[in-house]
Amino acid sequence: MKVYNSLSRKIENFKALEQGKVTMYTCGPTVYNYVHIGNLRTFIFYDTVKRALKLNDYKVKHVMNITDVDDKTIKGAIERRMSLKEYTELYANYFLEDLNKLNVDMDTKFTKATDNIDEMQKIIVKLVKEGYAYEADDGVYFNVSKFKDYGKLSGMKVDGSYSRIKNDDYDKENASDFALWKYWDANDGEAYWKGELKKGRPGWHIECSAMSMKYLGKTIDIHCGAVDLIFPHHENEIAQSESYSKQKFVNYWLHAEHLLVNGQKMSKSLNNFYTLKDLEGQGFNPLSFRLMAIDSHYRNKLDFNFENLRKYEKLLAKIDLSIKALNKVEKYEEKEDNYSRVQTKQKVEKVIELFKEAVNNDLNTHEALQHFLSLLDLADEKTKKGKIDNNEFSVLSTAISKANDVLGIYIDYKIPEEIIALAEEREQKRREKQFIEADLLREKISENGYSIADLTGTFVITKKYLD
Ligand SMILES: [Zn+2]
Ligand SMILES: [Zn+2]
Repeated sequence: MKVYNSLSRKIENFKALEQGKVTMYTCGPTVYNYVHIGNLRTFIFYDTVKRALKLNDYKVKHVMNITDVDDKTIKGAIERRMSLKEYTELYANYFLEDLNKLNVDMDTKFTKATDNIDEMQKIIVKLVKEGYAYEADDGVYFNVSKFKDYGKLSGMKVDGSYSRIKNDDYDKENASDFALWKYWDANDGEAYWKGELKKGRPGWHIECSAMSMKYLGKTIDIHCGAVDLIFPHHENEIAQSESYSKQKFVNYWLHAEHLLVNGQKMSKSLNNFYTLKDLEGQGFNPLSFRLMAIDSHYRNKLDFNFENLRKYEKLLAKIDLSIKALNKVEKYEEKEDNYSRVQTKQKVEKVIELFKEAVNNDLNTHEALQHFLSLLDLADEKTKKGKIDNNEFSVLSTAISKANDVLGIYIDYKIPEEIIALAEEREQKRREKQFIEADLLREKISENGYSIADLTGTFVITKKYLD
């Protein structure tokens, strides 16, 4: 498997620390608001990395943090007159809901920053003791000039001029000594901890270092984030962690590019700021967004607009229909291998090989999706004939589900009994040539959120998608 490592700025062959196992840390959300679709693109990217590793038979130990204490969460909680815990749990739950709707593999350990304060303090105390960090009036700071490799990820130079920054996020032009621990002031309200350090709270960067090392070890295989985290967040994570452990922090750094809306950066002021709820509110299936995300390469900017999303909604409907039709079509048993059987098997094997190649080529999901769709074309050819040999069916459906294990764009769902009953009644009316009644039944099915497609000799019910 080849991936682009931001640390070496090269495509590299992936090699795990321990054979067959991967440790992976992904920077999670700061839960001060709903996550937007730009964040969701990043989370879908994490999911794709994990699924690709699983395709290559790795056992993946994946940790994702939930940042529930930082400048933004504290400010938000105070403004809303909620406790920090109450406020952040609200948005953490929405976040997990979004991941579920996007069919993200939840085989992940989610951990909250506030559950790991002791580990953060332990690291900070050692950094101070060894001279990498120092105490100032308002907190404890990391001295970037003490870490000789500072800048190795982002290319940022430490020029020796003195500056110190307390904010979690800061300008991307200059290296500064950054806050590891911020002493309490009135703006922090109830958000403070004591212990080995003076009353205060952690800086954002130390949180990820502590959680990554605690749950996955001092050196891990993969750390993922969005490109805007390279500096300062990830550069700072490396500095703290490696000064603390004297070991390499991460072997492979993987970063996903931004999402734009109509070519512009998403922002509240431009009124082009969307959440998954906004897309759902316009009638879109969340998986259409997933499909859009995986159809672009993670290292390219993804330009979002609703016209485009509509295209993916249509494609999603087609995928759903093809898979359901393949499952529904009549099966028969051919006694022995015939030409069609051998040909299907060969074609499918070739497609799966190409699919895997695409995925392993720095996660070329755009190309992988094309191969997945060509499997569905093969399936459509068969279903159009009105029946399929059992053996060919199983070859095709195994391949489709293997590819879908990586792309995650199809989820099976149950059609309610009453909808099935209506559809059967409609089929009966059609046979009796009572077309007006049949159409009324189709409308009724549609009003209930389902649609019906007629195939050779049968019909298929799917969810209704936007036209
Ligand atoms: Zn990170
Ligand atoms: Zn992080």
